[in-house]
Amino acid sequence: MTHSTSPQRIAVIGAGISGLAAAHRITELAPGCEIRLFERQNRLGGVLATVHENGYQVELSADNFITTQPWGLDLVGRLGLKDRLVQTNPACRRTFVMRRKRLYSLPDGFLMMAPTKMWPMAVTPVLSPLGKLRAGLEYLLPPSRDDADESMAGFVRRRLGREVFERLVEPLVSGVYAADMEKLSLLATLPRFREMERQHGSLIRAMRRQMKLQRKAGKHVDESGARYSMFVTLADGLSSLIDTLAARLPAGTVRLGTSVEKIAPVDGSWQVTAARSQPETFDAVILATPSHVAGALLKPIDEPLSRDLAGIQHEGTAIVTMAFEDSQVAHPMNGAGFVVPGIEGSPILAGSFSSRKYLHRAPDGKTLIRAFVGGARAPEMAEMPDEKLVPLVLAELRDVLRISGDPIYQITAHWPGTMPQYHVGHLDLVARINTRCHAIPGLALAGNAYDGVGIPACIHSGELTAERLLQRAATQGQQ
Ligand SMILES: Cc1cc2nc3c(=O)[nH]c(=O)nc-3n(C[C@H](O)[C@H](O)[C@H](O)COP(=O)(O)OP(=O)(O)OC[C@H]3O[C@@H](n4cnc5c(N)ncnc54)[C@H](O)[C@@H]3O)c2cc1C
Repeated sequence: MTHSTSPQRIAVIGAGISGLAAAHRITELAPGCEIRLFERQNRLGGVLATVHENGYQVELSADNFITTQPWGLDLVGRLGLKDRLVQTNPACRRTFVMRRKRLYSLPDGFLMMAPTKMWPMAVTPVLSPLGKLRAGLEYLLPPSRDDADESMAGFVRRRLGREVFERLVEPLVSGVYAADMEKLSLLATLPRFREMERQHGSLIRAMRRQMKLQRKAGKHVDESGARYSMFVTLADGLSSLIDTLAARLPAGTVRLGTSVEKIAPVDGSWQVTAARSQPETFDAVILATPSHVAGALLKPIDEPLSRDLAGIQHEGTAIVTMAFEDSQVAHPMNGAGFVVPGIEGSPILAGSFSSRKYLHRAPDGKTLIRAFVGGARAPEMAEMPDEKLVPLVLAELRDVLRISGDPIYQITAHWPGTMPQYHVGHLDLVARINTRCHAIPGLALAGNAYDGVGIPACIHSGELTAERLLQRAATQGQQ
């Protein structure tokens, strides 16, 4: 698909993965188009950043992406990076969950929301006998016939009981979305579980059937037939995805250190004004910034749209990474990491055994550990000064992983206001945003605030936005 009647000049604002994917898709589909990619910071990638230091490869935020959505693998393939993909270490795929400062394996086959195997649920020390009995009742509970959105907390408690919610689902989902589960929308985050309830009457029944089918079909297979683990990363770090995307853009496309302060529709075109610059004229604008920034830029143009965009709340997180000699860590590091229930009162949301999950990330004999803090559970921790944050995290890791001595390497990254919160009603909010945005010629939105926070979803958001914008322009050109 290429577009002959395309806008001549497009401004993409925000060079995170969403903005870069949008700009790259335009160059693929309409190579004659002139693109300007405006980025406020002096580097590309938004929250994605890899550091190579002292022999360690540290991901400062996202550290891998899921392969069950096709868009990440697909882009990696088009960029010629397939041979740089790294799968999770098969020997360390289990996840632990904390209970009273001790780590236990998640029951084998427990996938995000529901069990696929009964025996591991029956014998897990993470749940009480009553909690297990209540979870088993899920098989018999009639499905709800209500179509309305509901909170993740409400849904899981309704189906599987309070204990499965508090001890398994809440920590697993908080570790991904950094969200308050009492507010997190089921339909915007994990709608397939509502669908399972609807179709099969029970999540457990649905999950077990699905697992059987997947085993037969061989899941996580790309179009070339290659098999992948559920998560993958890149051997040179996720920044290599950003660098490769940027290298595919025509010279002169990227404007770093350039914060866009104003956009305005003028006589069928768009004027884009960056700080300390003269306005520049474009045929179309893609806003790939966080949604609240898009909302502020659109305030003079469409007040209700701006209000809806500002209505998508964001929470902050921080990642504390530490390295130790293997001999300093007494806890067996035979897993990918651990998640922490909110009721444990720990300063850590989740921990990742970074150098076990992906073997290339630390020199032999060293252990690299990442701790994820903040989110809706403890928003103040996202911006806590390192002198306070690091000792807090270290004390907890020492306790839980039985670590002796001090880290031999440490680095902290703060990400305030970067995690959009998909609260109950998010789908309606996004539908309203899309309707108003589509009514404004030459304007499009992309980013993690709308249809998914993960890297593949952001890539899809950027690419789809670019495709639709070019399609709209082509249709208008034919009229
Ligand atoms: C700590 C953390 C861990 C994560 N872990 C994972 C993971 O393991 N796997 C996964 O798939 N996903 C993960 N995610 C989610 C995923 O990384 C993000 O959702 C995604 O990278 C966001 O990309 P984006 O381009 O939409 O937004 P951003 O990366 O926020 O990019 C937006 C860009 O817009 C720029 N900008 C803002 N205002 C302006 C302006 N006025 N003018 C010009 N530029 C502007 C910003 O500087 C920024 O570069 C994680 C996120 C965080 C924060």
